[in-house]
Amino acid sequence: QYIANEAKYSNLNAFVSRIDSKVLVERAKNLQLNQNGEADPKSLYGMPIAVKDNICTKELATTAASGMLQNFHSPYDATVVKLLQDEGAMIVGKTNMDEFGMGSHSTHSHAGPVEMQRYRGERSSAGGSSGGSALAVASAQCWAALGTDTGGSVRLPAAYTGVVGFKPSYGLLSRWGVIAYANSLDTVGIMSSNAIRITQVFNPLNVYDPQDPTSLPPATRTRIEEKKKAPPPSLRIGIPLDYNIETLDPIVRHTWLRALKAMEAQGHTLHPVRLPATQHALSAYYVLAPAEASSNLAKYDGVRYGSRAEGVDGTSDSVLFAKTRGQGFGSEVQRRILLGAFSLSAQAIDNYFIQAQKVRRLVQQDFDNVFAKANPLKHQDASSGVKKGVDVLLCPTAPTLAPGSVEVENQDSLQAYMNDVFTVPASLAGLPAISVPIHIPDEERAAIHGYHEIKESAGMQLIGQYGDDHVVLSAASSLQ
Ligand code: GLN
Repeated sequence: QYIANEAKYSNLNAFVSRIDSKVLVERAKNLQLNQNGEADPKSLYGMPIAVKDNICTKELATTAASGMLQNFHSPYDATVVKLLQDEGAMIVGKTNMDEFGMGSHSTHSHAGPVEMQRYRGERSSAGGSSGGSALAVASAQCWAALGTDTGGSVRLPAAYTGVVGFKPSYGLLSRWGVIAYANSLDTVGIMSSNAIRITQVFNPLNVYDPQDPTSLPPATRTRIEEKKKAPPPSLRIGIPLDYNIETLDPIVRHTWLRALKAMEAQGHTLHPVRLPATQHALSAYYVLAPAEASSNLAKYDGVRYGSRAEGVDGTSDSVLFAKTRGQGFGSEVQRRILLGAFSLSAQAIDNYFIQAQKVRRLVQQDFDNVFAKANPLKHQDASSGVKKGVDVLLCPTAPTLAPGSVEVENQDSLQAYMNDVFTVPASLAGLPAISVPIHIPDEERAAIHGYHEIKESAGMQLIGQYGDDHVVLSAASSLQ
């Protein structure tokens, strides 16, 4: 069925490259033969999984949707890919994305934009940058997909396409073999149709990797495990009032309220909380992420890495570098490099980069001030958290539903950055967060927006304390 859907939905441009369907069918047959009916039904045996194109695979090219890497074939598999294969998963292809993970609509791609067809034929944003992975799941071209989330790139497309998207705590999943965008924020995330499947993919990937210097070391993992009690049957759910912004679409606000009530009806309790630094999180993110990007992307110069521009012979480095970088990088990536290089420059670093780092600290403190559990990276004793604090936060994933394509085309970069306003705080703090689609009944949509649209959902986000990934995943299951 998944393979049939690949052909049916090829117009979505969700994949940059795929394994040939005949080869896949052969592999699936062999898997069944080897399986002998004995495979653990909980493993990923034979499950078709798509992988975002900035995660290295030996078998297909890894381009990060960039002209700069159009001919790049990795000599190795990323650790997360290897772990998936060890579990018996079948990698079906590499998904389309915003170049190097920079964008919110998956339109900045060397392979052409991802095309989301909404019900009634309207074209709209699939979200970004993991829009290809989200659409591949939404159109059942795979069972689950890997994405990456630096500032919301798994959660935002999940919200726009109506699937579940999970960004684990920073450092839990290996980034070895994942093309870096902003190292201090990059995480590998998982998308699927429900939180149970996501947990199935997450568990085998959640291991220490000595090849990734930011992988959470075993001792800290044990500490988190030890502190991890089974999540209480009744969760204390925080409602971050600072997310109730003026520009929040009424339908999203309404769905948020409905989600809160549904959680309350299940025996969880609701508690309003304040996260005052949230309002500065977006600006801090868009200083820090481009700064790290400008440094990371410096190596793509046509000599060390990247496709060299044609017609330059290397006699003058500056021409070679400029031409290669001018042709290889798309406009959004060039914008980020310039922004980053500026905020790190001697005249700007104090006013931009350093300030943004301070804001990042405040955002982290905000979260620590509301969670019942202490941050295990700062405190040995988890019980030293906030008395009467909350277990998880519940808020929208994005201020609006997926914008239509025309709206996206008319958005300038700054407006596009606004899509990430609710996802970047958890990224800056390194916290686990998941976006869950909440169905919007037709009548409600008609009442608020004055027109009918079939089968629409809004993404709601659950955020937990660092290391509370399983609390977030189980809360997501009860919300769905
Ligand atoms: N839209 C954000 C950006 O462009 C997030 C990207 C991401 O998480 N990779 O930076």
